[in-house]
Amino acid sequence: MFSADLIKKFKNTPTPFYYYDTALLNKTLQQATAAAKKHDIEMHYALKANANPRLLKVIQSHGAGADCVSINEVLRAIECGFPVSKIVFAGVGKSDEEISIAVNEGIFCFNSESLEEIEIIDAIAAKHHKKAQVALRINPNVNAHTHHYITTGLEENKFGINMWELEKVLDALKKCKHISLVGLHFHIGSQITDLNVFKTLCLRVNEIQQWFADRNIYVPNLNLGGGLGIDYYNPDQNAIVDFDKYFGIFRQFLKINPGQKLHTEPGRALVAQCGTLIAKALYVKKGIQSNFIILDAGMTELIRPALYQSYHKIENITSKAAETLKYDVVGPICESSDCFGKAIDLPETLRGDLFALRSAGAYGESMALDYNLRTRAKGYLAEDL
Ligand SMILES: *Cc1c(COP(=O)(O)O)cnc(C)c1O
Repeated sequence: MFSADLIKKFKNTPTPFYYYDTALLNKTLQQATAAAKKHDIEMHYALKANANPRLLKVIQSHGAGADCVSINEVLRAIECGFPVSKIVFAGVGKSDEEISIAVNEGIFCFNSESLEEIEIIDAIAAKHHKKAQVALRINPNVNAHTHHYITTGLEENKFGINMWELEKVLDALKKCKHISLVGLHFHIGSQITDLNVFKTLCLRVNEIQQWFADRNIYVPNLNLGGGLGIDYYNPDQNAIVDFDKYFGIFRQFLKINPGQKLHTEPGRALVAQCGTLIAKALYVKKGIQSNFIILDAGMTELIRPALYQSYHKIENITSKAAETLKYDVVGPICESSDCFGKAIDLPETLRGDLFALRSAGAYGESMALDYNLRTRAKGYLAEDL
């Protein structure tokens, strides 16, 4: 859904590039922050969805915190104005140097995923004469019912501490003088569209909290992670997800201890729909069974289809043709998986037509590669064009 005026601007901009609809981003954040406030939930935006500094400044301006998975993300968040008191740092493999820097910056919390890491955080904090705040990322063994590559909350996944390891972790924590346990953290996967999954998570978290209560342990923070899915098929009709309903599930089904604060870490749901990858048709090539549209953008700009068979709506935004044909839409990269969609109905396409790959604001620009020595595509906000 792009105006004729905007398409004219696209035509004057070298392709491929990312276009971010700032008005939609702001509207999404307004709705998300209003719903979070209503349900008294603190949001930490997951930077890995999109760490474009311009976007981060907008997100930060709405008062969100930051969820980071590398020290460069932590430093980027600080640079873009997120207060350190609202930065959490997760990840299964934080290096000593990363932990060291984060301890010195005084971030709000490490979401820690193993006994081994907890001991290292304690040792590093001791060396710096600091006390680090830690939340345990627990693997709740809840199936997110999403693509298996983006499922993280099952016992077979590498993420989190399993329930049977917790007793040992608590013993170790007693010896850690430079750590305070301030929370429990859960993140079960991404692009979760069945909200019942979050209800199941809540019920499981209640059991886990009971396990801690039985041992007289009460933590001040509960972090439910991210994972809220979006509608890739209808980006115009469903541009903004129902944050009120999503946050409401946590309020409705979680048993929360007195004074306990709720946190979430949405990534995709905040930024996916505001982003579009604009590309140009370099060639239309006749195949044996199908016709190929070869774009000047490929998996190096948007890897999700190649990496986990994701769907992105593809639109020819300049064709005037009334007739549609079936095309395979592919990129120029030397990999057979470099394909955005097979047998897609599109208006008859000519060399030079512009294409929009929709819902590309999350895990698009942030996952870009320079494989084939490709030049990184630029990202523009609406006001830049
Ligand atoms: C990726 C990730 C998120 C964000 O997930 P979305 O599906 O983009 O909402 C949140 N928390 C953690 C720990 C993550 O790894």
